Amino acid sequence: MKRVAVLGATGSIGASALDVIARHPDRYAASVLSAHGRVDELVALCARHRPQHAVIAQPQHHAALREGLAAAGLATQAHAGGEALAALAGSDACDTVIAAIVGAAGIASTLAAARAGKRLLLANKESVVLAGELLLRACRQHGAELIPIDSEHNAIFQCLRGAPADLTQVSRLILTASGGPFLNRSRGELAAVTAEQACNHPNWKMGRKISVDSATLMNKGLEVIEAHWLFGMPAARIDVLVHPQSIVHSLVEHVDGSVLAQMGRPDMRTTLACGLAWPERVASGVAAPDLGTIGALTFQAPDRTTFACLDLAYAAIKAGGSAGATLNAANEVAVAAFLAGRIGFLDIPAIIRATLDAAEDLGAADLGSLLAADASARRAATARVEARA
Ligand code: NAD
Ligand code: MG
Repeated sequence: MKRVAVLGATGSIGASALDVIARHPDRYAASVLSAHGRVDELVALCARHRPQHAVIAQPQHHAALREGLAAAGLATQAHAGGEALAALAGSDACDTVIAAIVGAAGIASTLAAARAGKRLLLANKESVVLAGELLLRACRQHGAELIPIDSEHNAIFQCLRGAPADLTQVSRLILTASGGPFLNRSRGELAAVTAEQACNHPNWKMGRKISVDSATLMNKGLEVIEAHWLFGMPAARIDVLVHPQSIVHSLVEHVDGSVLAQMGRPDMRTTLACGLAWPERVASGVAAPDLGTIGALTFQAPDRTTFACLDLAYAAIKAGGSAGATLNAANEVAVAAFLAGRIGFLDIPAIIRATLDAAEDLGAADLGSLLAADASARRAATARVEARA
């Protein structure tokens, strides 16, 4: 029996993960569940999945969580705060950690799982963008088994059969992008789009932050950086192709001209089941795509001028050092401001670009330097939001 910690259990990935876990009570048990601030939702999940531990990230909700669990007659222990979360992710309360917190806030618990040598199902891509080199080194040093839970990177992981990319054999990684809700729109048509429109993704049902990232193409930019670190691939050999049907999740091109692709429906339960059972396979609740009904799979180049965030991510890889941390933090601030209706859609790339251009490189030698770059970028981007709001 594998004991699984689901960090970010109240989110979209968290729900998909718990759905797959509940299908296999003989194989998996949710042993730790965490949420940011929604105590009632967390208690409801505990009543359903009976974990040993529940963690609410916001410490002011500790008592409410304890009382909620007691009132529901549950034996689940209540914890609160980031330190408790990281400690549990690295403890023997779990064998597998599903890192499904959104944003750089996930870094401490993700790193703790890596340092404790867990099987790490990594959805929290922002922690790779913030501290990819450090995180991958921690996984190697402590024998953690990192399995990407981003559909594109999981596709590449499967095409590579779980082995590292051999750069003498693999010539290119090709990440597919749906194109998001604003595919084929012009810059002029994007100026006045709303948060609701940006979150209305044609294929995937996801949290609001990643939905906006998909609409700006920053999600693909973050994924290029993620692929760079996860597979040790130079940025010049990572390409992006828009594939509006979201059936081919990514491709691996080899030096002999052979290209492997992985297909599936746009439903993260397939990806999560793969990560939980790898190298075995278990049912996920998702049927395979019916290619006869889908008919056509199409591919086109992304519009890098209209969707400027993609090239900002390549620029951050080129700059190196703390640029990834800066890019990620500026994006988190700009997306939150857009979701709050304070800035326009086209302000997002403008704020990120200006923050990147002005940032000092603090290096990537340790987490402290990266978190300092993150904090400094948040301050700078917030000032730019205020100037535009
Ligand atoms: P979501 O907003 O639906 O859920 C986020 C979860 O994180 C919630 O449980 C929330 O309580 C928790 N959380 C938020 N802020 C926190 C904080 N400061 N401290 C502790 N917990 C906090 O997001 P999601 O769509 O599930 O995405 C989660 C992660 O997975 C993101 O990094 C996203 O990029 C990645 N991802 C998501 C999908 C998808 O289909 N949803 C696909 C690929 C990758
Ligand atoms: Mg993805």
